[in-house]
Amino acid sequence: MERIERDFFARDKEDQQAFLTQTWCNQCMEADLGMVEPSEYEVNGVVFVEGKCARCGEPIVTEIADDSTDGDWDDGE
Ligand SMILES: [Zn+2]
Repeated sequence: MERIERDFFARDKEDQQAFLTQTWCNQCMEADLGMVEPSEYEVNGVVFVEGKCARCGEPIVTEIADDSTDGDWDDGE
């Protein structure tokens, strides 16, 4: 699959803040522990933000439902 790098820091400060604080860590099994070293990329039209859990350092990947990306071909039925 093709992975397209995106610029996480091009987002609004508020957006960045939300992604960095509203997290779920599978390792800690706890929400909102925070995330460090964020990076953003796109695979198959789906955007992901990836970083590390601020507590345990395990990778966290957040999928972003982004309506503004191209490819609205599956709207409706
Ligand atoms: Zn963790």
